[in-house]
Amino acid sequence: MSDRYILSVEDLTVSFDGFKAVNDLSFYVEPNECRVIIGPNGAGKTTVLDLICGRTKATGGSVKFKGKELLAMREDQIVHAGVGRKFQTPSVYEDLTVFENLELSYPKGHGVFGALMFQRDDPVKTRIQEIAETIFLDDQLDEKAAFLSHGQKQWLEIGMLLIQDPELLMLDEPVAGMSVAERKKTAELLNRIIQDRSVIVIEHDMGFVADIATRVTVLHQGQTLSEGSMERVQNDPKVIEVYLGH
Ligand code: ADP
Ligand code: MG
Repeated sequence: MSDRYILSVEDLTVSFDGFKAVNDLSFYVEPNECRVIIGPNGAGKTTVLDLICGRTKATGGSVKFKGKELLAMREDQIVHAGVGRKFQTPSVYEDLTVFENLELSYPKGHGVFGALMFQRDDPVKTRIQEIAETIFLDDQLDEKAAFLSHGQKQWLEIGMLLIQDPELLMLDEPVAGMSVAERKKTAELLNRIIQDRSVIVIEHDMGFVADIATRVTVLHQGQTLSEGSMERVQNDPKVIEVYLGH
């Protein structure tokens, strides 16, 4: 069963002073899937990503990525294994250009020797150019990140993760604060990048969710309330009650 999934989350639990923010949660993500996690504020969505990427230590359960137990690994080991995570606020280097931000994130640039001996050789330039096209910033390569719009900064940060070629990319509310046009382009971007990887997205904008989701998991009080296609969860009485019932 585990072979079919790139990520298997089983009985995942975290307790903060007795409060179970994530409570016995299980879900499974397939290769090339875009899984969207929705749910009311405080449902535990961000905490789930924190647990998968190793930022928060789980109290119990299991998170297997390509068969490897992530709960036994440090944050940097999880990144190295191929899991990329974008946080809610963009964290690009404002004083550096788009090119330089992407160059810094290129895996070869990491580590003391890598950084010292790093040259702007052609394969790196080619890869940066490819990524810049994917994130709609190929005309802004020499622009300082400080001058980008909020939406463009979000794309740049996605690019900084993509250049590391993660097999699982996790994004927390990537279109918050974006214009309608930027949201459409972000949906196009996600639909393109799942050709080569799986994505987990936390999102509130239901129009955007409909544009990107392979499957939706509705989280409520740290547990799965409903799961399936967008249509299925939207028509699930349990979901309707949680969203409209109070
Ligand atoms: P969501 O992203 O769905 O809005 P969160 O995952 O941020 O929800 O939070 C879920 C619940 O867990 C909230 O009640 C929040 O206050 C609590 N929580 C999250 N992180 C911590 C923490 N480090 N310590 C204590 N409580 C936390
Ligand atoms: Mg959150």
